[in-house]
Amino acid sequence: MFTKILIANRGEIAARVARSARAMGVRTVAVYSEADAAAVHVAACDEAVPIGPAAVAESYLKADRIIAAARATGAEAIHPGYGFLSENPDFVEAVEAAGLVFIGPSASAIRAMGLKDAAKALMEEAGVPVVPGYHGEEQDPHFLAGEADAIGYPVLIKARAGGGGKGMRRVDDPKDFAEALAGAQREGQASFGDGRVLIEKYITSPRHIEIQVFGDGHGNAVHLFERDCSLQRRHQKVIEEAPAPGMTAEMREAMGAAAVRAARAIGYSGAGTVEFIVDGSDGLRPDRFWFMEMNTRLQVEHPVTEAITGLDLVDLQLRVAAGAPLPVTQDDLSITGHSVEARLYAEDPAKGFLPQTGRLHRLRLPDARARIDSGVREGDVVTPHYDPMIAKVITHGATRAEALGKLHDALAASEIAGCTTNAAFLQRLVRHPVFAAGEMDTGLIDRELDALTAPLPPMREAPALAALSLLGLDAPRAGLIGANDGFRLWGPEVRDVTLKAGEEDHPLSLAIHGHGRFSVTDGEGTYALTLVGGRYAADDGPRRPVSFARVGASVTVIAGGRAAAFHIPDPEAAADAAEAADVVTAPMPGLVKLVSVAAGDRVEEGAALIVMEAMKMEHRLTAPRAGVVAELLCAEGAQVEDGAILLRLEEEETADA
Ligand code: ADP
Ligand code: ADP
Ligand code: MG
Repeated sequence: MFTKILIANRGEIAARVARSARAMGVRTVAVYSEADAAAVHVAACDEAVPIGPAAVAESYLKADRIIAAARATGAEAIHPGYGFLSENPDFVEAVEAAGLVFIGPSASAIRAMGLKDAAKALMEEAGVPVVPGYHGEEQDPHFLAGEADAIGYPVLIKARAGGGGKGMRRVDDPKDFAEALAGAQREGQASFGDGRVLIEKYITSPRHIEIQVFGDGHGNAVHLFERDCSLQRRHQKVIEEAPAPGMTAEMREAMGAAAVRAARAIGYSGAGTVEFIVDGSDGLRPDRFWFMEMNTRLQVEHPVTEAITGLDLVDLQLRVAAGAPLPVTQDDLSITGHSVEARLYAEDPAKGFLPQTGRLHRLRLPDARARIDSGVREGDVVTPHYDPMIAKVITHGATRAEALGKLHDALAASEIAGCTTNAAFLQRLVRHPVFAAGEMDTGLIDRELDALTAPLPPMREAPALAALSLLGLDAPRAGLIGANDGFRLWGPEVRDVTLKAGEEDHPLSLAIHGHGRFSVTDGEGTYALTLVGGRYAADDGPRRPVSFARVGASVTVIAGGRAAAFHIPDPEAAADAAEAADVVTAPMPGLVKLVSVAAGDRVEEGAALIVMEAMKMEHRLTAPRAGVVAELLCAEGAQVEDGAILLRLEEEETADA
């Protein structure tokens, strides 16, 4: 086995590879761009080497710098992850020329599968069924239009060098062919430097079912069963699962054998995926699946295969790359239960899934309920430089229904603030009756897009909860709520406040009754609200968990798998409101270094109260006004959250009374 490997990637996959390497006692070297100096994947590795500016062309795609980093650190092998250089045969050759091992297939195997047209021709020869269509050399538009007629509409035009769903156009009507062809060629040229295309019959009721294969350099090749990746948007996978719903032993046998044939045909070594398109209009039938392409790398969705087989695919990759034979034979392999993965992204489904950027002020993913593969942590920034994936959420259950139920609950329990995400969209998708019944095809998301992305009805209590947080009345610590938080003997104190959600105003009136009880008057009327110990309830309704992510005069209310952001429009008003609330809160997450006052102390306005340390800088917190320290809610050495109440002041008169 290797003693040290370099991981030529970033984000969740780099961290995930490091995890298995560490478990095997293999030391790891990360590479990172200027934007990633403090990234999760750097922390996950034993050493790290900077390789250039944020732009991928200047860093993660710089083969020479990555190879130099491996040599400088004494790494013996390079794991490419997925994307970036993982399917670049020139990189493989350069790695080998430098005397290092590429953890993946040979350059020739990658080349054989690198272009979709050549790969299909090769597969036809190997006796693997391929999608009917044209995948020859001739690229004349009139000729291609004739081929499309012969194939029969609808057809799919694909850039032969394409990947990630790019360079693809479905054409339903011959009159649209010329324009679609030009589009696919342009996209192929722009994205992959190759404008040549192939044309395929567009399979109706298409299901995407792929087979995980594994080969070694000793003539062994096995398959690790199938994954169903039919839930797609723009030809990109959204939710994946294993096994495929409705799969029969006969179909699995036929697809597995075809995939192993494909792998053997190119002398495949390492992990790979053979992707098939399946006509699911009449159930799964062994004469209705066709080869689409082979991905000669570890796949994003490999964890669902790990969950049902109990194998660690990265562990196997390292063993095979180090020259060991595959430790398993086909007969050793079996399926246990069902697994689902959702790709959680910083993107806005309501705005055409526009990628989002921003700082993740809150990121709590329920890792006790699900396997979470993530490349970011709370406080990290999702930048425009890279894929905006936040995490892969993977669950496993005895049955498909159980795995889906767990996935839904895990998504609902996620707390994310700072970026709009697809979490609510994913939750709806998981609950969609057609998907729940296992009857999806690749067009399901598109057909149901409006329902899946429609804004949720607003949660009535959200603005009031946001206001309580901004006023410091959310008492983040259960049990420390003062008996007189805002309570006045002569009746409840009333605060009027207007919050904004985007451009929308939410005027509110809050009557404070103490002990976490409030009356809220909004545009609809008045209702009772309680907020105690991280749970809220409206009128006599059930108590539900809520959490707040505060940054200055903004707060995100997170409840029931939803997040709603509010702010106080005028920062001065926010400061006044906070002051009126008699509390001193932590302006950011950090360490309480010094507390210079004690309960009962009289303080003047501007007096030093607390020194906090965050990001290696000290921040002095001072008294917003003169008063008496009623309660000290933190101690020196304590790590506190952003917005936590550290100290409460009261009027001198009240204290004297
Ligand atoms: P998977 O089946 O593993 O999801 P994808 O085709 O979606 O495979 O690609 C996996 C990752 O690799 C994605 O992050 C995608 O953006 C990236 N990727 C795929 N093809 C390319 C390519 N040709 N160039 C750069 N990145 C790519
Ligand atoms: P990429 O390299 O971008 O992943 P693929 O050839 O794997 O390209 O196709 C991506 C997706 O497009 C598939 O997962 C499938 O949903 C759809 N697709 C591809 N070929 C066909 C086809 N012939 N008929 C119907 N859908 C197809
Ligand atoms: Mg594909």
